[in-house]
Amino acid sequence: MQVGRVTVPPTAGLPLCPADLLPWGDANLADALATWLEVPEAQLECSGTSALMVALRTLQRLSPTRREVIVPAYTCPLVVIAISQCGLQPRLCDLSPGILDMDEHMLRGLCSERTLAIVPTHLCGRVADVQMALHFARLAGAYVIEDAAQALGARINGQSVGMQGDVGLFSLAVGKGLTTYEGGVLVARDAAIRSSLYAMHHRTVGYSLGWELLRSAELLGYAAAYRPSALDRVYGAPLRKSLARNDWIGAAGDDFNTVIPQHKLGTWRRRVGVRALKRLTMHLHKAQQRAERRVAQLSLIPGIEVIHDPTPNAQGTWPVILVRMPHQTSRDALMREHWASNLGLSLPFVNIISDYERYAPLLGRDFSDSVMIARNWAQRLVSVSNSEWLTDAQFDRLCGHISETVAREP
Ligand SMILES: *Cc1c(COP(=O)(O)O)cnc(C)c1O
Repeated sequence: MQVGRVTVPPTAGLPLCPADLLPWGDANLADALATWLEVPEAQLECSGTSALMVALRTLQRLSPTRREVIVPAYTCPLVVIAISQCGLQPRLCDLSPGILDMDEHMLRGLCSERTLAIVPTHLCGRVADVQMALHFARLAGAYVIEDAAQALGARINGQSVGMQGDVGLFSLAVGKGLTTYEGGVLVARDAAIRSSLYAMHHRTVGYSLGWELLRSAELLGYAAAYRPSALDRVYGAPLRKSLARNDWIGAAGDDFNTVIPQHKLGTWRRRVGVRALKRLTMHLHKAQQRAERRVAQLSLIPGIEVIHDPTPNAQGTWPVILVRMPHQTSRDALMREHWASNLGLSLPFVNIISDYERYAPLLGRDFSDSVMIARNWAQRLVSVSNSEWLTDAQFDRLCGHISETVAREP
């Protein structure tokens, strides 16, 4: 019997309340989000990936001769799926050795008259250097799309992320904070770009009853199961099964469908989003306080490195805490021994894009971008859940396992 088994989710998603699910109420999630983000307008899409596709197609119309999109080599595979589904060529930028962000020299080398856009990515809530991307983009005549899929609520110089580049996108997927099960948000600083994004949405995205029914059922299922007592069945058990097969890609949730649906976000799910959004500020505030304590505790462990915001004046969000282990051997040992032990341990992504058998073909046959340092990051990173359900006792145990694993390394 699994009754009473308490399971920690891999990220600090915002739990739904039964009252969020009422069928009536304000459905204007776009305006509610714009107000909450303090931006002029927000545009809703059915996923972060779909939002990225709308952004790419919009920019492609503005710059029809440019076909390359530069992304960090270590990012969500959905980003590369979106680029490829738009008929564009992904280019992978290596990471900097010391900072979890694109390497300046690599980025400069990748930019050319073929570059449509650069996609700086606020990975796991850490705020990337958008100004650097903007600098090289402008020199090459390209755009900047900020991927803030994992960073709703993160700010830089007092302003929401997504507003330094030309377009910003957020995800409302499960596990990324506020959720409509799947959902995406586009923001843009410039009014002309905003109306182009809006026009592209109306030209290419229609309503789909089938998808809406499926997503509504999934959202209800999520509302019912996103509780410590129910998560074992929907998250814990499948995780242990994947790990028993040595399937790390399945365990990390990196096994995406490579065809991206595009449709409108339905009324009821928008109502749920409007009601849940009222609790997001408090949720993020508590997550930040918890993260501060736990970052301080992790920082005392010799040999590991806790990842901070790559940019100054940034206030990132904390769905997880990222830790870089000294070597791949200690990282892999930690994951092998404790991934299944319900201590909130996971991987942001298992591989860099070019090392997934499933996604490498999307890079094309001529792929030759240098990605050595990003690979080293991918081999050494772990994520620690910042869920409110990870108790201090569990977190202490996890810290003990981490220091013991590092100490064992020759
Ligand atoms: C999840 C994610 C996306 C895609 O968002 P979805 O809403 O899941 O489609 C894009 N970029 C990054 C970095 C992500 O983590």
